[in-house]
Amino acid sequence: MGKMKEVFDKLIKLQDVLLKEFKAEDELKEIPRELNALKAKYERLERSLKEEKENIENYKKTVEDILKNIEALNRDKEKYEGQILQIKTQKEYEALTSEIAQIEEKISLMKEQEEDLNSEIVKLNREIENQEEEYARLKEEIAVKEKEVNEQLENKKRELEGYLKEKEEISSGLDDEIIYKFEKIVKKKDGIGIVSIKNNICMGCNMILPPQFVNDVRREESIIFCPNCSRILYYFEEEPQDIAI
Ligand SMILES: [Zn+2]
Repeated sequence: MGKMKEVFDKLIKLQDVLLKEFKAEDELKEIPRELNALKAKYERLERSLKEEKENIENYKKTVEDILKNIEALNRDKEKYEGQILQIKTQKEYEALTSEIAQIEEKISLMKEQEEDLNSEIVKLNREIENQEEEYARLKEEIAVKEKEVNEQLENKKRELEGYLKEKEEISSGLDDEIIYKFEKIVKKKDGIGIVSIKNNICMGCNMILPPQFVNDVRREESIIFCPNCSRILYYFEEEPQDIAI
């Protein structure tokens, strides 16, 4: 077994570990996804509750203002009604009754506004009640899920550490730059970073390679990358007895 064969064997083993490592890394990102979505929902609900409570406070203040205005209008009305008793002319009487009628109209409009606001407050309070139930439920769900997710993350991190250690062991004796390049190729090229040449064709990308280039690979003096797909190449020896059969 030539020195290069050993290197190729190591690279093939390394590739297996790299694939496990990449998968574990993806899973690490995937594990907290659902929890994060729950947390985002919880925060949205929190904001919405805060806004609704602020709205209620504003409505209540507006209702207070309206009630004060109604009181003031009622005082005006009483004042005008008192004056009616003392008037002398029909013209004065008409002016006052028209004034009183206008005030009454204003009061009735304001009472309508007050009623609308009060029913809005009731509606909002009901919504808040429902949302607060949901809020409490979410909070509990998040706490349970968080514990679960943290355990899963711990396990996955331990698994990943195992692969890193394995990788280090396999890589000993290999050139750092080759390992670096190889990792990048495996990641970019669908998990396959080392392929054979059969019948002068790269088994990674099916490119026909020049005979001189194939001979270089076959001599196994250095690590050679496919000029088309950048994968590391090794020469696949046809067994003579295979041809005989
Ligand atoms: Zn290729």
